[in-house]
Amino acid sequence: MKVVLVTGGTGLVGRAIQNIIENDKKENEKWIFVGSKDADLCDKKSTQKLFEHHKPTHVIHLAAMVGGLFQNMSHNLDFLRNNIHMNDNVLHTAHENNVVKVVSCLSTCIFPDKISYPIDETMVHNGPPHSSNYGYSHAKRLIDIANRGYYDQHGRLYTSVIPCNVFGPHDNFHPNDSHVIPGLMRRLYDLCKDGNTEDKVFTVLGSGKPLRQFIYSIDLAKLIIWVLREYDSVEPIILSVDEAQEKSIAQVAETLARTFDFKGKVVYDTSAADGQFKKTASNAKLRKYLSDFQFTPFEQAIKETVDWYIKNYDQARN
Ligand code: NDP
Repeated sequence: MKVVLVTGGTGLVGRAIQNIIENDKKENEKWIFVGSKDADLCDKKSTQKLFEHHKPTHVIHLAAMVGGLFQNMSHNLDFLRNNIHMNDNVLHTAHENNVVKVVSCLSTCIFPDKISYPIDETMVHNGPPHSSNYGYSHAKRLIDIANRGYYDQHGRLYTSVIPCNVFGPHDNFHPNDSHVIPGLMRRLYDLCKDGNTEDKVFTVLGSGKPLRQFIYSIDLAKLIIWVLREYDSVEPIILSVDEAQEKSIAQVAETLARTFDFKGKVVYDTSAADGQFKKTASNAKLRKYLSDFQFTPFEQAIKETVDWYIKNYDQARN
């Protein structure tokens, strides 16, 4: 029997994995989803208790301190320390408890700032990350270093995935610490809630020009489950939409405005920071394994997310 423990199981990606597993559970698998109420993974003892209780054979490690550009810029030390603690506690406790496989999450935003495009899996450590999120980035990069160490010293198959920007139901919509899509959704929701939007202004922070790849959490969930079941290498693998599906922030804002049926003006506040101009990642490695994988079209994924948010506004992370 495979016992799969999912840390960060209450978050955006964790809830999407739960959603897929409800219809795609194998008979020999038991899945356990945990959040910060079940254990504080920054604390070694709490982590040990969690592992002793559930006795996992496999771990999907999603738990992390995660935030948008502005939250990262003002809290780099917290992102560094909390994530280092969580990652070391989870990986080492997994090793001590003979967990045979761990799949952890890096991110495309941890790649070097000065880099050639498209980015691939070999470039994680090739230079300093963007100054806006160096704390988060260095903590995440160390997961890959630890995975190599657990393999070299103990023969463990602890690996990592590198998702691009994720969005979907159960995201964090808080105005101060959300990523770009849920942040814009929150603002549009507030602008549209009283009806009649013709005289309203939807302000987007930054120039709208930066380019990003966005993956729907449901698609990412399917890919992470595939990695757990089938991908047997310590080397990280990028889980991203194709390069041709890259969008500008302005395209995202306009798609969202259309989906909300917002009839007012969209304005770009160019006095706000843009972050990295682009970080185009190649999914060629993923495509070698799963050439036919169909990503949900962006407009459809946005529509499903907006519908979910409107329906679940009261319970959402606002
Ligand atoms: P969320 O912010 O939605 O969820 C974070 C999860 O981590 C929650 O389940 C939270 O538990 C848990 N958590 C946070 N702190 C602790 C702690 N001290 N102890 C135990 N659990 C804790 O994150 P996402 O789902 O967006 O991200 C999942 C993974 O994917 C992360 O590793 C992230 O770095 C990575 N990633 C995310 C991207 C994105 O765009 N969102 C892009 C690329 C990578 P609770 O809710 O109960 O507090």
